[in-house]
Amino acid sequence: MDDAVGPSQVKDEEYFFEDGNCVFWVEGVLFNLHRTILRRNSTFFHNLFSLPKAADGANGQSNDQPIVCHDPVPTFRAWCCALYAGFNNLQPEDLDKEKVAHIGLMAHKYGCDAMENWAKDTFLTKLEDEEEDFTNECLEYWLRVATQCYWPRNVVAVSESRLLDSISEENPHHLRDVIRIADNVESEGLKARAYYQFLRCHEWSLSPPQRADRAAGGFTFMLANAATIPWFEPLTFLTDSQKLRLHHGYIALSALRDQMRRMPSVDIDCSCTARLRKRWAQEGEKMSLDWFYLDPKEFLQSMRYKLEPWVCDNHEPGVACGLAMFRSQVDGFLDTFDDNLVRFFPKHF
Ligand SMILES: [Zn+2]
Repeated sequence: MDDAVGPSQVKDEEYFFEDGNCVFWVEGVLFNLHRTILRRNSTFFHNLFSLPKAADGANGQSNDQPIVCHDPVPTFRAWCCALYAGFNNLQPEDLDKEKVAHIGLMAHKYGCDAMENWAKDTFLTKLEDEEEDFTNECLEYWLRVATQCYWPRNVVAVSESRLLDSISEENPHHLRDVIRIADNVESEGLKARAYYQFLRCHEWSLSPPQRADRAAGGFTFMLANAATIPWFEPLTFLTDSQKLRLHHGYIALSALRDQMRRMPSVDIDCSCTARLRKRWAQEGEKMSLDWFYLDPKEFLQSMRYKLEPWVCDNHEPGVACGLAMFRSQVDGFLDTFDDNLVRFFPKHF
């Protein structure tokens, strides 16, 4: 470690305090901080300073014996800012997004629990604020931080949904960008959700004339001029294997939608089940008109909503109820739907 400390050290302009008592070496830049402040904010440094002094001397006591940190300088500096300005005093609206991510990452690394919670909350506030614009580069960094810090699934999910929103019919090539980001953060789940988003915003059709036909309200022979109309979405921005994966998911989810036309079997003999089946059949029939319920998840959400006010009036105490069981199964299916998308867009087939 010590050989990394070369002569080309410079003191950080802002965070090399002459009265500091803990020197850090960060990518050739020296920082001199105060142990009291580090001890108070960080369990890592609290524990480190409680240990007996290391014999090799690399304990931050002087410029020649700094504690070496393998963090990028801007990241380390952002953390110093949170330590010295007091993160609670930093106004979220004045903070640039990258800095919040830097602080979150460092707070996690050095066990600054209160600071980490603050960063996580600031993250969520910014993500949920529709006025805030995010570049994909920034969202990628945020996703990486949220994943590395093991922040709850909802923080990751909000970052992801921001990214997924960038995929639209007008900007189909954004699918490629999200796939690249999903590769970088090693998330096959995100990749599957990106393909799914692409199908959603293309109205579940990979054929432009089919979409035009729906919009126009019906097929015309003009539209069927096969010589001039591109029948397939060109998808030139995808590699062949990415195209294949998209098509696989398209076929698999269309198959699921076909299955959903009939009510999933409920093996309970409660009188509500027959009523349920009838209602399902009415809605399911609409799926055969291809502009109704194009998305199987949306169909299920709609069925769930429609069944919400139902009560089973024939239900006998102590006997299992079809409606109750059915509801819980549908809820379970919907809760895991996004996570299960990888099975529809498999990596290998
Ligand atoms: Zn019942």
